[in-house]
Amino acid sequence: MGWGRFLSGQAGRWVACGIDLVYPPRCPICQSEPTSHRGSPGQAAELQPEPPPWAAAVCGACARELSADAGRCLRCGEVGGAVDGCRLCPQRPHAWRHIAVLSSYAGGVREAVLRAKRPAGDDVTAALASLIVQKHAAAIRSWGVGRVVPVPMHWWRRSIRGTSAAGELSRHIAMQLGLPWSRPLVRCRATRMQNELPINDRPRNVEGAFRVRRRLDGERLLLVDDVVTTGATLSECCRALQNAGAATVDVAVLARADRNSADA
Ligand SMILES: [Zn+2]
Ligand SMILES: [Zn+2]
Repeated sequence: MGWGRFLSGQAGRWVACGIDLVYPPRCPICQSEPTSHRGSPGQAAELQPEPPPWAAAVCGACARELSADAGRCLRCGEVGGAVDGCRLCPQRPHAWRHIAVLSSYAGGVREAVLRAKRPAGDDVTAALASLIVQKHAAAIRSWGVGRVVPVPMHWWRRSIRGTSAAGELSRHIAMQLGLPWSRPLVRCRATRMQNELPINDRPRNVEGAFRVRRRLDGERLLLVDDVVTTGATLSECCRALQNAGAATVDVAVLARADRNSADA
């Protein structure tokens, strides 16, 4: 390596260090400064292993609050213990194989999900991605996932909002898991927002709304969305991916809303 390149690399590192010292990264959820981050000493460390570097910005109190969900079934996503299949599964038909949920759609998680949807919400999205990865990395690895893909948003809705929450979230999750990311799904018609419709009309609203850009033969996919209620959208996406040849489709979502929730 030439000295010029070496020095410019070093200079970049020194500048980055300097910026870190002047502006220590605040918790993107509560904006607290790093010194107050870790809660009472030892408390967070006992509950959780040391967080990986990309998660360092989320403070211990926020990590605990946002991850403090009851155990959920890894098949249907309902509360009922961290089990792989539960008594509610038969009443909750779904097209995915497993589902990883960070939390129910309430309190701090609901607030953070709404903030992440805003155009400037990228650091909140990264923080939420780190929390779901911390919580479910072992399960996701055991599922043999090889690629992360988002539930697509119709282009005109994205052009209005300036961002696709599921797109950004899935990109961060892929990065943190060290897996490839792509957007094989396309929303080929603008559907009505699922939360504007009665629950029984939701499957028909999204039926045939998705197509894939290319064959996915043998791929093992993790499909990502921010909030799930009935699962109609996710199931329809799963079917489109399976029809394109995907071997397995598992799902990761930040929040599961109650079925009577008006929000999702
Ligand atoms: Zn915080
Ligand atoms: Zn279940």
